[in-house]
Amino acid sequence: MDNELLNMELLSGPLYKNALKQLDLACTAMKLDPNVAARLKYPKRALIVSVPVRMDDKSIKVFEGYRVQHSLTLGPGKGGVRYHPSVTLSETAALAMLMTLKCSLFGLPLGGAKGGVRCNPNQMSRQEKQNLTRRYTSEISNIIGPDKDIPAPDIGTDEQTMAWMMDTYSQEIGFAVPGVVTGKPLSIGGSLGRTDSTGQGVAYTIMSAAKHLNMTLDKDTTVIVQGYGKVGYSAARKMDKIGCKIIAVSDENGGIYNPKGLDIEAIHKHLTAKKNLAGFPEAQPVTNTELLELKCDILIPAAVESQITEKNAGKLKCKILAEGANSPTTLEADPILFDKGIFVIPDILANAGGVTVSYFEWVQGLQKFFWDEKEVHNRLWNIMETTFEKVLAVHKEYKVNMRTAALISSLQHLSKAMLVRGFFP
Ligand code: NAD
Repeated sequence: MDNELLNMELLSGPLYKNALKQLDLACTAMKLDPNVAARLKYPKRALIVSVPVRMDDKSIKVFEGYRVQHSLTLGPGKGGVRYHPSVTLSETAALAMLMTLKCSLFGLPLGGAKGGVRCNPNQMSRQEKQNLTRRYTSEISNIIGPDKDIPAPDIGTDEQTMAWMMDTYSQEIGFAVPGVVTGKPLSIGGSLGRTDSTGQGVAYTIMSAAKHLNMTLDKDTTVIVQGYGKVGYSAARKMDKIGCKIIAVSDENGGIYNPKGLDIEAIHKHLTAKKNLAGFPEAQPVTNTELLELKCDILIPAAVESQITEKNAGKLKCKILAEGANSPTTLEADPILFDKGIFVIPDILANAGGVTVSYFEWVQGLQKFFWDEKEVHNRLWNIMETTFEKVLAVHKEYKVNMRTAALISSLQHLSKAMLVRGFFP
């Protein structure tokens, strides 16, 4: 694929365009070497695979899958695997770019990658998902590995998916290779604290933001969470534990709202039993659009991308917007939020708890020495707080919004590494 074709393919998706524009803003503000900036606009490597799967009715269905490695300058690729009907090469490449920037921002010795299969996991049986995962892993096995690229869970995948990936890769190599994935079950080398790490990290950055804004987090602090999956549920749980009041949550089918507060664990039980938030007692239904516009102190979008746009940004009524999801806010929405005085904790800062504990899992696995949960949490808190302060300092120095500040901070580290490694051939 020459550059023109690659460009056409990549730029066909809104997420990639958004990521490029954000990158441009940061490169301009920090006057980044244009040769470095040019390289970062493209992924290093992008693999498209066909994934034939034997379905329960014995038919074979062919799915399209991807693994994109955006940059391997700082270390092996790192990034989740997404199972969702809207997965495309362009979206996967954009998310891989975000992973490069996230890992660099946090000083992790990892590059940026992302994978995905266009499918609807909610309509597949456990056996079909296993077949899909094993074949997808086999198709991308040449470019993944503990020293090459290490997948993790994302939308539609979980620790069971990682266990199947680890097993398939290990079967092909001939011995157990737990380090090929992170976010795996504890019994095969997972880390304590990994399941909740992304949501926990979101909450830690909110605590840092509240300190910066002189805002108290207590029972009168209202929180809304869009997307009640792995990230949303754990973020809500942590905010609840801190003592804040969760007043609305949602999933893809809609949301529930109670200004007096919701019982997080009761919702979880309800969702596990009914697979739907609808019908939860003592709460009124709201749509996802309405949910984002409800008055609250802290809004956590933790679902999918492009939820806050120039159309609804002006209607948001929160003080802090903590991006649990990747790219929930479009570039056009940013200045509107800024003018409204909403403090945005950008995705590569807010939701990096997951990749950070993935890094801890990788380190523990390499050392064959596992930490207790307290140590994982303490180390996570330290790194989240230090990185938040680093971004805040850039925000003040360059007089840019927190998103551009996070990107500048990340690019300062990454560009140094790129320039010192030099150019080949
Ligand atoms: P998940 O599949 O566990 O949960 C996603 C949730 O969002 C589900 O509740 C789903 O019903 C809901 N949802 C889907 N479409 C929606 C829509 N249009 N409106 C409202 N809700 C919708 O996924 P997850 O792992 O929690 O990931 C959520 C987001 O966080 C994604 O953007 C992902 O890239 C990002 N993220 C995840 C991790 C991680 O460790 N899992 C790390 C960093 C970032």
